[in-house]
Amino acid sequence: MSRPNSDGGAQRPGVRFPAALDGLRPAFTTSVPRSVGVAPDGRAGVVVARVQGVGLDSAAVRQAMVQRLAQQGVTQPAVLQALATVERHRFVDSALVAQAYEDTALPIGWGQTISKPSVVARMLELLCAGQTLPLGRVLEIGTGCGYQAALLARLAREVYSMERLRALHDKARDNLRPLRIPNLHLIFGDGTAGYATGAPYAGIIAAAGGDAIPQAWLDQLAVGGRLVAPAEVRPGQQQLVVVQRTTTGWQREVLEGVRFVPLQSGVL
Ligand code: SAH
Repeated sequence: MSRPNSDGGAQRPGVRFPAALDGLRPAFTTSVPRSVGVAPDGRAGVVVARVQGVGLDSAAVRQAMVQRLAQQGVTQPAVLQALATVERHRFVDSALVAQAYEDTALPIGWGQTISKPSVVARMLELLCAGQTLPLGRVLEIGTGCGYQAALLARLAREVYSMERLRALHDKARDNLRPLRIPNLHLIFGDGTAGYATGAPYAGIIAAAGGDAIPQAWLDQLAVGGRLVAPAEVRPGQQQLVVVQRTTTGWQREVLEGVRFVPLQSGVL
C-alpha cells in the first residue's frame, strides 16, 4: 500500500523495536552505554538501540536518522539540529512508534499523513535557503499532528500553524502540550485564506497541495520572504513550488514531483 503525502512509493515493512518508547522520556540517560547499528544493506530506518527496562534511547535513533538525511544531501545545520531534537515518535500513534524514525510517511488519522522526514527536511531547507536564521514569523498550512510545526518553532521566532480539521488541531495540541513551545500558535481554520493576523510572513509552508498557490499566501508573504508548497502545476501532476517575494513581484520556481494530501477548503 502506498500512502499519499510525498512518500512517493510503496511502504517498506516496518522494523520493530524490541520495546515501546515510553512516550515521555527514555528509561535511561545518555550516560548509560548503548549500541546503535545500521543494517548491512544501509537501509534507511533500520536502527537498533539497546533497550533497558521499558524504554529506548530515541536520541540515538534520531541521530542515526539525521545522519542518513545528511548523507542524502541535507546540509542546513539548523534544520539538521531541529530534526535531531524534536522527537518524531511523540507525534505518531503508539502502534507506529517503531517506524517513527524510518524515512516514511505515516498515517495520523482522519485520512491525513505526516510527511516522511526527508521531505520535511527538503521543505525546511528550501524555506530557509539564503535567509538569516532564525526566520521571523512563519505560517504553516496543515498542522496535522504538529511535528513539522515543532521543527519550525526551532527555526523561526514565531510560528502560526493552521489546521482545518478540528480533531487534528486538538490532537496536535495534545501532542505539543508537554513540549511547551512558547513561540508556536495553533490556529483552527481554513488556511487557504492564510492568516492575516500574523502577516507579513518571512516564510509560508504548506503540507497540502491544491491546483494553484492561493493568492492570499502570496499577498501575506513579506518582501524577501519565501513560500514552499506543493501545487498541481499541470493537471494530475503535483510539484514542489518555491516562491520568493521581491520588491517588484514574485519569483516562482517549480521543483520535483511530490505527493501530498489535498488542500481543501472549509473546516470540519
Ligand atoms: N505538517 C503536518 C502534515 C499534515 S498533512 C505534520 O507534520 O503532521 C496536511 C494537513 O493539511 C492535514 O492535516 C490536512 O487536514 C491539512 N489541510 C488541508 N487543507 C487545509 C486547509 N485549507 N487549511 C488548513 N489545513 C489544511
